[in-house]
Amino acid sequence: MSSKYKALKQECYEANMELNALGLVIYTFGNVSAVDRENGVFAIKPSGVPYEVLKPEDMVVLDFDNNIIEGTMRPSSDTKTHAYLYKNWDDIGGIAHTHAMYSVSWAQSQLDIPIFGTTHADHLTTDIPCAPPMSDELIKGNYEHNTGIQILDCFNNKNLSHKEVEMVLIGNHGPFTWGKDAAKAVYNSKVLETVAQMAYLTLQINSNAPRLKDSLIKKHYERKHGKNSYYGQ
Ligand SMILES: [Zn+2]
Repeated sequence: MSSKYKALKQECYEANMELNALGLVIYTFGNVSAVDRENGVFAIKPSGVPYEVLKPEDMVVLDFDNNIIEGTMRPSSDTKTHAYLYKNWDDIGGIAHTHAMYSVSWAQSQLDIPIFGTTHADHLTTDIPCAPPMSDELIKGNYEHNTGIQILDCFNNKNLSHKEVEMVLIGNHGPFTWGKDAAKAVYNSKVLETVAQMAYLTLQINSNAPRLKDSLIKKHYERKHGKNSYYGQ
C-alpha cells in the first residue's frame, strides 16, 4: 500500500533503529518521532514492538492533537509528550526519548548536569536542565501530555531556549531530546548520555571538580555554532 507519509515513516524508522544501534535502549524501551510540518503530522514508533521486528510501515502517523492519521498499531505510550512539544515548539523536527543509564541516573538524582568540560560546551553553554518530578495533580491527569507541560515549564522557569538547549531530564524519569530532524534528536540523546557519564565520573574522581570557566564555554560553543564557526568541513 502506498502512503503519502512513506518518507516520513522511513525517517522515523531509521532514527528508532539508530537509537537501538547506539545502545541507548533495550527491549522495547525508548521512542523517536519525526515531523512533517507541511502536513501537520508526525510519525512515531508503535508501542511495545521490539526493535528486531520493527518495520518502516509499522510507524504510526498522528496529528498534533493525537488523532491517528495512518497506521494500525497503537502508538508509543509517550506520544502525547511528543505532540505537545511539536505543537508548542514549531521549529523542531524530531524528538527522542530513552531510559539510558547515566541520563536516567541524573534524572533520578533530580539534579541538573553541571557543565564540566568542553565536550559539554561543544553542544550547549548551560547545565543540562532537570525538570522537577511531576506533581500528583499532573500525574493523575493527562500524564504524558502533562510531561510536555513539565518540560516547557522547566524551560520557562530556567529561562532557557529550546533552540540552544536541545535536551532535558524529567526528574525520576529520564531524558527527552530534540533537534531539526529525528536523526539530530537521536544524536542529542547519545551526546546527553555521554556527557552524563563523563559528569558522573568527574564527580567520582573529584567531588569538588570546578565547572568549566566561561571563557572556555564560550570558545567551544562559538567555534561550533557561532556566526564565525570554524568546526567541521
Ligand atoms: Zn520513559
